[in-house]
Amino acid sequence: MSRIFNFSPGPAILPAEVLARAGDEMLDWHGSGMCVMEMSHRGKEFISIAAEAERDLRELLAIPAHYKVLFLQGGATLQFAQVPMNLLGGKGKADYVNTGEWSKKAIKEAKAYCDVHIAASSEDRSFTYAPPQPAWKLRPDAAYVHYCSNETIGGVEFHWVPDTGSVPLVADASSHFLSRPLEVSRFGLIYAGAQKNVGPAGLTIVIVREDLLGRAAKGTPTVMDYKLQAAADSMLNTPATYAIYIAGLVLKWLKALGGLPEIERRNVAKAKLLYDLLDSSGFYRNPVEKADRSRMNVPFRVPDERLDAPFLKGAEERGMVQLKGHRSVGGMRASIYNAMPLEGVERLAGYMKEFEARHG
Ligand SMILES: *Cc1c(COP(=O)(O)O)cnc(C)c1O
Repeated sequence: MSRIFNFSPGPAILPAEVLARAGDEMLDWHGSGMCVMEMSHRGKEFISIAAEAERDLRELLAIPAHYKVLFLQGGATLQFAQVPMNLLGGKGKADYVNTGEWSKKAIKEAKAYCDVHIAASSEDRSFTYAPPQPAWKLRPDAAYVHYCSNETIGGVEFHWVPDTGSVPLVADASSHFLSRPLEVSRFGLIYAGAQKNVGPAGLTIVIVREDLLGRAAKGTPTVMDYKLQAAADSMLNTPATYAIYIAGLVLKWLKALGGLPEIERRNVAKAKLLYDLLDSSGFYRNPVEKADRSRMNVPFRVPDERLDAPFLKGAEERGMVQLKGHRSVGGMRASIYNAMPLEGVERLAGYMKEFEARHG
C-alpha cells in the first residue's frame, strides 16, 4: 500500500487509521453482519453510531447543553440560504462580514432573503486580512451577524472571536472546524461542511443555540427547519449515514490523540514550518497579514507563474498532490488539515527549498 500526501482543500485527507478501521468494519460492523451503509437509519445499530458521534463532538468542543447539534446535508452552501431562512425571524435584515470568496457566496445567497449590510470588508486589500473588530459597523437590530472564520481560498483565519453583543454571531467554520478549541457559547450558530476537516462529503454539521430555533420563515422546507430537525435527531429524512459514521471515527481519533488542545498544538507546528519558510525566502510569497494567516490553508506564489506547472509536477513526482491554488488567486495552496501528518509538511518544505535552490 502506498499513500500519497494529499494537500487538497476538500474533499480532503482523512486519518489513515480511520480509513483502515472503516475497511476492517466494512463487511461486518461490530458483529451486526452488515456494512454501516446497509443499515436502516432507524435501526438500533445506526442510532447508536449517530448518538455516539454527537456525544464525542459535544465532548471535544465542550458544547453547552442549550445548544443543539444537527447532522444535515446540502453542504455549507445550503447553509448560506438555510441560515437566513431560519434566523431572520421576520426581522428582514442581517449583517455580513466580507473576507473573501466564501463570504461573497454567503452574502449573495442571503440577499435573496433579506436586507444585507456589509459590516466590514477586506476587499480594499484583496481579502488579505481579517478586519479588526473596531472596523465593524454593526446594526443593533440585525437578526444576526455572519462571517467566515477561515477563508479556505484566501488563507485568512480569524484567530479571535468577534463580539456582536446581543446580536447572534453566525460562523461558517467549514475549513477550520475542530482544528482548535472553540468557545461555542460565543456563537448563535456554527456550521461546517464535513469534507474539509471532519469526514467525507455529504455531511454538514450545525451547532445552534436553542433559543434561535422555531423562527423559520413560512415556506421553509421541513428538512431545512432547524427546529424540526433538532426534534427529530436530524432524521426527518434519511441522513448521510456513512458520512456520519466516518466523522464519528474521526472524532474518536481526535479524542485518542488528546483532543483539540493537542491537535491545535500540532496544527500550529505544521503551519509554522511553512510560514517560517515563506518568510525567510525571497522566492516564495504569501500575501496574508501575518496575524491573520490560516493554519489550515496556506496559499503561496513563486516569482514567475510559468514556474507553477514545474513546481506542481515536481511535487507530484515526490508524492504530494493537489497543491494548485484556487483559480481566483492562482499560485499554489497547501491545505494542511488535522489529518495531514507533520511528515507531509516536512516533505513539502524540503521540496520547496530544493525548488528554490534550483530556480531562485
Ligand atoms: C468548502 C467551503 C464551503 C462550501 O462547502 P460545500 O460543502 O461545497 O457546500 C463553504 N464555506 C467554506 C469556508 C468552505 O471552505
